[in-house]
Amino acid sequence: MIHRIAILGAAGDLTFRYLLPALARLYAAGRLPPDFRILAFDRRKWEDEAYRRIAATGLAEHAGVVDQAVRRTLIEMVDYRYADASDRRSLTAALAPIDGPLIVYLALPPAVFAPAIEAIVEAGVPSGSRIAVEKPFGEDLASAQRLNALLHRTFHEDAVTRVDHFLALPGVQSIFGLRFANRLFEPLWNGKHIARVEIVWDETLALEGRASYYDHAGALRDMLQSHLLQLLALLAMEPPAHADERGLRDRKLDALQAVRRLSPDEVCASSIRARYTAGRVGDRAVPAYVEEKGVDRSREAETFAQVRLAIDNERWRGVPFVLRSGKALCRDRHEIAVYFRPASLGIFSDPGTNVLCLALDSGHIHLGINASDDQDFFTVRPSALVSEAAPDTLPAYARLLLGVMAGDSSLSVRNDEAEESWRIVEPILAAWGSGIPPMQEYSAGSDGPTSADDTRAAA
Ligand code: NDP
Repeated sequence: MIHRIAILGAAGDLTFRYLLPALARLYAAGRLPPDFRILAFDRRKWEDEAYRRIAATGLAEHAGVVDQAVRRTLIEMVDYRYADASDRRSLTAALAPIDGPLIVYLALPPAVFAPAIEAIVEAGVPSGSRIAVEKPFGEDLASAQRLNALLHRTFHEDAVTRVDHFLALPGVQSIFGLRFANRLFEPLWNGKHIARVEIVWDETLALEGRASYYDHAGALRDMLQSHLLQLLALLAMEPPAHADERGLRDRKLDALQAVRRLSPDEVCASSIRARYTAGRVGDRAVPAYVEEKGVDRSREAETFAQVRLAIDNERWRGVPFVLRSGKALCRDRHEIAVYFRPASLGIFSDPGTNVLCLALDSGHIHLGINASDDQDFFTVRPSALVSEAAPDTLPAYARLLLGVMAGDSSLSVRNDEAEESWRIVEPILAAWGSGIPPMQEYSAGSDGPTSADDTRAAA
């Protein structure tokens, strides 16, 4: 296990909101070695003490569940250093006193990934080091390929983590076992028995001041290209020969390769892009997206994306996979819903269906089943099987960091998976860029554009 982490971009939101709180949770759980060190690099000229004070405030806000004494000890593990991540000389000076392998974590704006990796390659890192790169990994196929080539100049693929923290969510972690360790599901997991799959990440959060990133990305790049396609791969993959990271990622890649590339006509019929207009989400007034600070309306960034994809293989031919994500919606809905075909005996006028819902954050499982009504054998009454509450687990970023430290690649998106995801998304980006289909609107606080339901129903 590696005992030190250098966070580049250590004064940013991700570090204070997720990385330091995750390390605090790991420390509280006894999962960090006692001599663990956190090297915090950013380009603000702060003294060590000033950084530690800000970090302590961040921890109080985002890791309040962790005992104050534990938080204090974690802060004592932090050393802050000025470093311009895109400047070789500055990085060399910051890294110079470090011996022994380290994790270099790029918590930087995506535009800085390439210059930072170049500077790291030139500065050099101690042998045995690993690198973790945040998302989005590139902004299209060509830029993802360039990043991969740069990384491989210094790091073996096994030493690279392309971060997708969704892979560490309890609901996502449970997919593999749910599919392959249940006689109840394994033989039924195909188009003969499953009619449709929905992968949904709807949020009530609006832009929240992140225009400088989001207005360049939009929902398709931000959510579907990375997180939701990874979920599709886990849901659609064939069983690997062995339960190891290589088998897992090989089969995920196969599934991504089988996703049909959409023609412009198919993009028009199967996708929706939309952005929110002014409205209320709960008791919060939300301005129209185009009125948010830092938004350039000529960019046409979408805040809602829905795409219906087809997988051209024996298992999934004819089964739509609907991927959907949007901001400023009426409720947080983070789930996978698998709709089974109705039982085919034809003896009930309304036999009902079975829908398996998997809550991504908690891992809760809800399986809609049918039984006869207690008054009448011949009438079907819907019911449900609900899983027990999941044990209190570590947050996704804590599990992810643990994986990086231990060299477990199963939570990393492999180079070929990242590139394949861009191959799926590029035809959609191209069609959207030429105005197909037109941008729609939905009120903040609504359930999204009404046509989204039509497209799902048509599936
Ligand atoms: P921020 O803009 O909040 O933080 C980035 C930090 O990097 C800032 O402190 C910035 O300094 C610093 N920085 C920029 N350029 C350099 C440089 N050349 N050398 C040294 N430091 C530099 O971004 P986030 O923390 O929100 O995001 C970081 C990464 O994490 C992104 O890739 C994002 O997509 C990803 N991410 C973020 C999430 C979040 O909730 N915040 C969630 C999931 C992923 P300055 O302010 O001076 O520019």
